[in-house]
Amino acid sequence: MTSTDLAPIGLQAAPDGTLPCAVCGTPTTGPTTTYPVLSRILPMGDGERVEEVAPGSGVDLPTCSDCQGIAETARQIVAAHRGLVRLLGTVATWQTTTALYALDTIGQPIPGPDIEPHRLGSLVHRLAAPGTGTMYSRRFSPVMLAGSSTKLAARERWSAVDPSALADCRGGYLDWKADGRPIRALAHPGRRRCEWCGTATFPGRRVSEVWFGDLCAKCHAVHEAGGTSYEAMWEAIDPDRAIRRRRADVPDIDGVHSYSRAGGGNGEPWSHLGGIPALHEHVARLVDTA
Ligand SMILES: [Zn+2]
Ligand SMILES: [Zn+2]
Repeated sequence: MTSTDLAPIGLQAAPDGTLPCAVCGTPTTGPTTTYPVLSRILPMGDGERVEEVAPGSGVDLPTCSDCQGIAETARQIVAAHRGLVRLLGTVATWQTTTALYALDTIGQPIPGPDIEPHRLGSLVHRLAAPGTGTMYSRRFSPVMLAGSSTKLAARERWSAVDPSALADCRGGYLDWKADGRPIRALAHPGRRRCEWCGTATFPGRRVSEVWFGDLCAKCHAVHEAGGTSYEAMWEAIDPDRAIRRRRADVPDIDGVHSYSRAGGGNGEPWSHLGGIPALHEHVARLVDTA
């Protein structure tokens, strides 16, 4: 058994004259950047201890040409999207860079400057933070992890990434893909209808964003605000409060009940009570004659 075989999974001994790439971890050479080390974690029996290090400590790491290429693509993207700079300020380039690192970590293609602005905004929102977690420099900076050594390097690009950081990238990637889907009618995950309004579908991009238990997003919002199904119905038939503003008290409507009481209807909101247009008419008439 050689010393290489003793290296943790995904790592190898860095060949003489090389250092791990600060980003993907593969052995490389070239100019280095200093990554500040503020403290270090030391293994202690069955636990760990955090030890302060001398002020100004740091680890010097190079960046391989592949990772430099990704950073250059990020600079080109940001140069073509000044809106992102207005939104994020000086961190726009860095956050775009780490978002691209996240994509590369999970083997997804890297977009170019022609990416649509809303897709770029979503990409950075979903993947900039996961991307920082995949960087090899995180083993050293700002906290040097136990067992970290510049004598170790990744066996191949990203092979030393922590499984939880990898999972964060995959999750962020799925969210980014979902952000790009058109809004469509989403059925309840259990194929049930909303307990209050009886709708069978709700418009959105993700089921988890439009269905909450057995309530649709609209009824859920009323419930969260302390309202009842009766108030949810009012929100549906009088969304701008035009009817309710015309009188001090909320008019009583006979026979109003939630879908869960008796079912019925065709899967449209409040169709078990005749549907929103009919309810609106009925209520407007009630108010006029009041
Ligand atoms: Zn690299
Ligand atoms: Zn509902």
